[in-house]
Amino acid sequence: MRVNQIKLLSDVMIHKISAGEVIERPISIVKELVENSIDAGAKIITVEIKNGGINFIRVTDNGIGIPKDQILLAFTNHATSKLNNFDDFETLMTLGFRGEALCTIAAISQVEMITKTQNDILGTNIKIHGGKVISQNEIGCNAGTTIIAENIFYNTPARLKFLKKPSIEANYISNIMKRFALSNPQISFKFINNGKIIFTTNGNGDLKSALMYIMGKDIAKNVLQVENQTDKFRLSGFIAKPEFSRSLRTYQNFFINGRYVKNNIVSTAIENAYKNRIMVGQFPVYVLNLLVDPGFVDVNVHPSKMEIRFANENLVYDFIFTCILDTFKNASSELLVAKPKINMENVVDKQIVQTENKNFLFQEKESEFKIDKPTKKSEDVIKQIEIINTGERKQNLIVAYKIIGCIFNTYWLIEQDQKIFILDQHAAHERILFEKLKNQYEKDEVFAQQLLIPIDLSLNEYDAKIFLDNIEQIKKLGFDIEKISKTRFIIKGVPHDLNKYISREFFMDIIDSLKEFKLDDENKIQQIMQKACKKAVKAHDDLSYPEIKELIKSIMDAENPFNCPHGRPTIIQIEQSEIEKLFGRKK
Ligand code: ADP
Ligand code: MG
Repeated sequence: MRVNQIKLLSDVMIHKISAGEVIERPISIVKELVENSIDAGAKIITVEIKNGGINFIRVTDNGIGIPKDQILLAFTNHATSKLNNFDDFETLMTLGFRGEALCTIAAISQVEMITKTQNDILGTNIKIHGGKVISQNEIGCNAGTTIIAENIFYNTPARLKFLKKPSIEANYISNIMKRFALSNPQISFKFINNGKIIFTTNGNGDLKSALMYIMGKDIAKNVLQVENQTDKFRLSGFIAKPEFSRSLRTYQNFFINGRYVKNNIVSTAIENAYKNRIMVGQFPVYVLNLLVDPGFVDVNVHPSKMEIRFANENLVYDFIFTCILDTFKNASSELLVAKPKINMENVVDKQIVQTENKNFLFQEKESEFKIDKPTKKSEDVIKQIEIINTGERKQNLIVAYKIIGCIFNTYWLIEQDQKIFILDQHAAHERILFEKLKNQYEKDEVFAQQLLIPIDLSLNEYDAKIFLDNIEQIKKLGFDIEKISKTRFIIKGVPHDLNKYISREFFMDIIDSLKEFKLDDENKIQQIMQKACKKAVKAHDDLSYPEIKELIKSIMDAENPFNCPHGRPTIIQIEQSEIEKLFGRKK
């Protein structure tokens, strides 16, 4: 018979089990160690990783160091110098307080620490592998602390399996390092990956210069300063002008009392304030720090301390929303307010939408379309199109269609035979552009059109790396790009069909989309094409009537007219009989 035998877990086992909460992946180690360095008052912090941090993480600081007699204590669970009793939460300004990071890191990796306080003459070098002290010696060193963590999860292989590719883990770390640099402009950071310096900041305390190091010159030149204060809150930092928004939220940096947090109330308040200034699917770029009485926020919601709770969410929402709106108001002269694009062709079209085609004369009178019946005799521009239910076309069937008009600024109604088609202008446009690019690429007929005014693309180091990694594929699609330096590129020519739509933002979107996936060459090209088309269509959504006519013709000729490259339908159809049923004329 099996007998239940309940045993207390050993400390080592407990640490291994609970480690997953605090230390999930290499970035968690970097985060905890750098937070400790910041809490220790360091002015210079250097972080070096190898192989995505999986094999090697070293964090060096010039902070206060740990006194000799407290070193072992620092590695003991729930040992902290930052919190004495529960009331301290009300005034807590340090990043750490749970006292479990060092202990956990030492339990799941091979750790070496060298540390010395200002007052001690000699420092200490201690090695702890998998929670066991291997050695402890005196050593001559500078004041401050260096911690090396090697071979993460070497003793918990199950956890190792959950890690992503080193390049992805490295990217996570790079992102958090940027956030540290942005939230601490008074600290000089250096981040090294596989022996290469990724970025350094000078630590002169000026947020704008940190912003330039991290996000690049273009953004730094196009930010608005935020500085608002009430008796409860103080918000300061920078928001990028709306046209510098991005398609990822990666560039949103919000800190509360210097701690990077992800919070819905905050991001919604900011995004709502940007509403109507940016396109759907674009996200504002910002670096903002909210100073608030520590008693007003609960940071102890999750072990990683990235989630927080506010004592009163409405107050926070209103304050932040108003701050951002005020910033826009004060900067109204600086802001290029997104003007509705006025296309002269469109203006003319509204009066007499189409004159050259005598079959369907569109006239807008008191906001009504008057449609002249097609004259049967007229042979000119009736297009020969037939779409059948199954989504296939019969070419030998020639059926005329009639463009009824546009509803909701997006959907075109086309009457043909006994059906009405509803065509999504954006999806259709996207599909057409995509097929054009794809055909040219597949047939090797790519043709770059030289831009009159080349686009000067200055990127931050990480974006530049992504761009460089993919530049051959981008060029294959007909982009003519000159590399000026490691981070600066001049776009001299673009694929013929895209020349109307290209902007700096266009490239930023393509770069962002390439960050999301690791793709092989062919898939990369597809991805670039899809993104390019999507972007192009967004940038040019008010087509003139002749353009629409051309679009409808092209979509009918497309290889796959029924879906946009992202799989959404481009056309739906409703039979006359279905409409009649709705009106009770037919059963
Ligand atoms: P916590 O940061 O929550 O207090 P940790 O396990 O991260 O817990 O660290 C335990 C203690 O070790 C800290 O409270 C601090 O006193 C000390 N410590 C850790 N890292 C450093 C460092 N880089 N410099 C000085 N002291 C440190
Ligand atoms: Mg800590």
